Amino acid sequence: MKRKKQNKRKIIFLLLILLAIIFLIILYMRKEKNMPDNYSNEAKEKLKKENIDIKEYNQTLEAFLKSDDFKKENIEAYMQINFQNEEDFTAKTNALLEKNYSPDEINDIFTYLSKANIQKLLEMDYVNLQDYLKISNLDVSKIDAYKEYEQKNNTTINDAVTKVNLHLDEPFYENVETIEKPDDITVLVNKFHALDASYVPTDLTNVGTYSLQMRKEAAEELEQLIAKAALDNRELIPYSTYRSYDYQKRLYEGYLEIDPKETVDTYSARPGHSEHQTGLACDIRSSILNDRLTDSDYEWMLQNSYEFGFIVRYPKGKSEVTGYMEEPWHIRYIGKEHAKKVHDLDITYDEYYDLYIANH
Ligand SMILES: [Zn+2]
Repeated sequence: MKRKKQNKRKIIFLLLILLAIIFLIILYMRKEKNMPDNYSNEAKEKLKKENIDIKEYNQTLEAFLKSDDFKKENIEAYMQINFQNEEDFTAKTNALLEKNYSPDEINDIFTYLSKANIQKLLEMDYVNLQDYLKISNLDVSKIDAYKEYEQKNNTTINDAVTKVNLHLDEPFYENVETIEKPDDITVLVNKFHALDASYVPTDLTNVGTYSLQMRKEAAEELEQLIAKAALDNRELIPYSTYRSYDYQKRLYEGYLEIDPKETVDTYSARPGHSEHQTGLACDIRSSILNDRLTDSDYEWMLQNSYEFGFIVRYPKGKSEVTGYMEEPWHIRYIGKEHAKKVHDLDITYDEYYDLYIANH
């Protein structure tokens, strides 16, 4: 009996030793994997030359060691930077470290910010980006203005970003930009974005049998929209579509003879600032007898026009953003996909444009 017990002990003892050996082998193999041996020859040479004693392999360090921008004094920070397939990754990291961004902040910057924003950051002093990283329409160069707008208007950061991007922290018609791609179906024309006086769409065509012109795609969809309304026993009649720059100028100046400028600006666009010049907008009335769209037709328009690529451009309660009084009768073609999204999100086209089209 005694012998058997002793044998058993021996076996257990041997097994334990075997396990310990296996454990040590695994440990060794893992260590081997992390040995500087895994660095490329080029990186190894640099390590040697700079007299750096690094035990573990690090992909970012491997990349940085091969760069002419490698800086020995940043090595501790380098080890904490997640590898990115970024142009001038080493130089950009150095520049951000120099501006006192922490490795964690640098990782966030490369993860969340667009190339354009990173470029801007490199030209600015340090800013705390914590609250802004995940905002898709962020422009880092405007962070001070965002903060100011947020506090002044007691709103959310996201709202402040969109409003400031739309220049709504400035008076209307100041800092006007000329639109670069006026032919885009999604073009944004408002009090800060103007069409060149010479711009005329090249594909204007008559809307059905009306002697009114719109861009081809918009004209065809408008006919469909009118037909759908007729099926629902509604008579919708377009009465103003494409208007040239000169026509808009005469219209606006005509209004100035009736009302003061501040008032005219709430209902008529200055020349170059009218959507009608794009050939994508249309004013609609409810039947020959009605001068304007009735409330009922307006509701129908809100619920149906997006199926044909149109949106109500100046909805009720949005004057603060659009700069115009509500215009239920004014619809704008932006294509079906975008029109559905604007409808579903229930926001103005100005906001939608900044959130989903500009810089995307
Ligand atoms: Zn209009």
